[in-house]
Parts: sequence; C-alpha cells; structure tokens
Amino acid sequence: MAERIIDEHIGKLGYGNMRLPKTEDGKIDIETINKMIDRYLESGYSYFDTAYIYQGSEDVLGECLVKRHPRESFNIATKMNLANVKSAEEMPIQIETSLKRLCTDYVDFYLIHGLTKETIKKANDFDAWGYLQKLKADGIARHIGFSFHSTPEDLEEILAHHPEVEFVQLQINYLDWDNPKVQSRRLYEIARKYDKLVSIMEPNKGGWLAGEKSEAGMMLKKANPDASVASWAFRYVLELDGLLTVLSGMGNMTELEDNIKTFQNFKPLSKEEHALIDKAVDILNNTPSIPCTRCGYCFPNCPKNIMIPGYIGILNNYLIYKNIDPLQHIYFMLSGEGGQAEDCIGCGACERNCPQHLEISSLMRQVTDLVKNGEPAE
Ligand code: SF4
Ligand code: SF4
Repeated sequence: MAERIIDEHIGKLGYGNMRLPKTEDGKIDIETINKMIDRYLESGYSYFDTAYIYQGSEDVLGECLVKRHPRESFNIATKMNLANVKSAEEMPIQIETSLKRLCTDYVDFYLIHGLTKETIKKANDFDAWGYLQKLKADGIARHIGFSFHSTPEDLEEILAHHPEVEFVQLQINYLDWDNPKVQSRRLYEIARKYDKLVSIMEPNKGGWLAGEKSEAGMMLKKANPDASVASWAFRYVLELDGLLTVLSGMGNMTELEDNIKTFQNFKPLSKEEHALIDKAVDILNNTPSIPCTRCGYCFPNCPKNIMIPGYIGILNNYLIYKNIDPLQHIYFMLSGEGGQAEDCIGCGACERNCPQHLEISSLMRQVTDLVKNGEPAE
C-alpha cells in the first residue's frame, strides 16, 4: 500500500491551507502566497492540503498553485464535509465545486472531512465509502481516506470494515499524545495496526505549541536558543513511522523557512529533549488555557453567527499573558464579523461539532465577563 501511495512528489512537510495569509487591510495576500508556494515546491515538497469548507482556500490554490505550476509537480488533498450534506445525492456537489475552484479535473487525495460520531453515521447511511471508491475508479481521486475526530473504538470499527481506505488523517502532537479526550497515541496505533499511512494534522495544536512567551515555550527556547519552539513539536511527530505527511498551516515566509529548516535537518529528539517535552506537557496541562485549535467546525452551526474561536482566543490571551488592554479592541473587531459572545443563547449546537469537546456556551459567558468586568466569570 505504501508503495502505491508514496511517489517521488511526496515529502514529509505538508502545506496546510486552512488559514491563509492576509494583508493589513484584511484581504488574502496573493503575492505572499505565490512566493511561499514557489519556495515550498523548490524545496522538494509537494503536498497541499485544503477542504471544501476552508473559505477561499481552494480558489486560491487554483490560482496560485494549479495555474502556475505543472499539474504533475504537486499533490492536492481536499475534503468532502458531510456535516451539511442531507442526502447521498448531495455528495457529488462538493467534489464538482472543489474541482472547479481548484482548476483541475482530479485530486490526488480525497478525504471525508473530520469524521465525528454524527458524520460517521452519515458516511454509513449515505455510503460515502462506496462513493469514494467510485471517484477513485473514475480517476477523479487518486487516493482516498478520511480525517478523524472521534474515538479509538470508532476508528477501529471503520478500518475493520473499510479496507479500501488508504490513509487516515489524525490530530497528533505531544500535548494530545496521551490526552484522555483526544487519545492520539491510540488512534495512531490503530491506524498502523491496519497498515494505513498517517497524515498528521495539528502537530502544533493549531499554533498553540509554537508560542515562545508561555512558560513551556520559554523553557524550550532556553534549552535551544537556535531552534524555534514550533520545531520541537515537529521533531516529536517526525519520529513516528508510516507518515504520509505532517501538515503545517504556514502563515508567512518566516514560518515556512523555519519548517523547511526543521524538516530538512531532522534529528530525532534525544533522551534529554524528550524529558523536556514531558516537562512542557506538564506545564501546559497545568496552565489554565483553553485548547481551541481554531479549526472552525463550531461556528457554521451557530444561530447567532458568533465567531467562536476568535472569542476563545481573547480568553486564552488573557489566561496566558494576563493583559486586558488589547482585548476590547479585538472583541469589537470580531463583533463586526458576526454576533457578539454575549449574544450566545446556550443552544449547544456548536459543542456537538467541537473536536476538542469544549463547553463553548460557558466560554462565551466568560469572555463576556472578561471584556465587561475585567476578569472572566468562574
Ligand atoms: S451555544 Fe452559543 S455559541 Fe454555541 S451555537 Fe448556540 S448560540 Fe452559538
Ligand atoms: S471551539 Fe472547538 S470547534 Fe470551535 S474552533 Fe475551537 S476547537 Fe474548533
């Protein structure tokens, strides 16, 4: 299976396109994206990850990648999101739209996006599995798989019944490896037991592990001033075998260059470095912050159109930096894009889709109190 899927185009560093670089006036920064894509390809990498629901992402890849580089020189992975699909007949709409946006007539990797208990049921009811196989037989998807946010038991069940799946995309990083909710270690071990290649998402937990001002970040920086804090997280996951790719959402050229440096000069972590990571995990687990990855699965279902991850970000900034000054400004900027945190009616629609199992309605109350009273509610 590995021989079928890994060809000379695939390197370990995968280019995540969930969050795109923006200019100061908030527009997508096409010039920077073009430069970053060129630099990434020149460095010998070729895996671009996007999704039907990543706003503007497929269109940008169509313009900046597909129209500017030979099609055989890169791989595109995109995803079908079942959360909003109401019947089996609706499934083709997404790949047809994705191909149009991407300016191509096939994708290299096609995934069912972010399987949760709810979407696993839909995948079975709508036979999304058979649909993926048809796309592959028709040459529209070269390889098929899924990204996953449910339990090890659910993963085992799917892989036992669907040998046609070629790879699995999992959330793996040093903070989640033994986290009892996410259970990255068990998920990874099950995927490998079924001989599936693993594509890693959130190796830095949505950038969370890359911060250099937290207590854990400062400790890692002190241990190796020449290495970015982010590089520790990449080295941690790069030690695993059976990897298809490790996705990194890179917001600027500095991050891209840092990643290239880490991946091209990869050195396994020493025993002492592993001990430091264990210590970082302890510190982070004991820092009162909210492990939101900013994946955005919550807010499409919010009846009040609240930009949930943005508001949770406000709370986290406060919890980590204890600085109230910039928060009101960010709060009102976010209000311009949708409802305010204080508009939350506690319906729970967001919480059912949160891979991190966050109690979002309670967080909205806390951020409201923080901005109005200077400290979050208990
Ligand atoms: S609980 Fe609040 S934030 Fe979540 S979907 Fe309902 S209104 Fe929106
Ligand atoms: S609250 Fe949950 S679903 Fe929403 S962005 Fe954060 S991690 Fe994702």
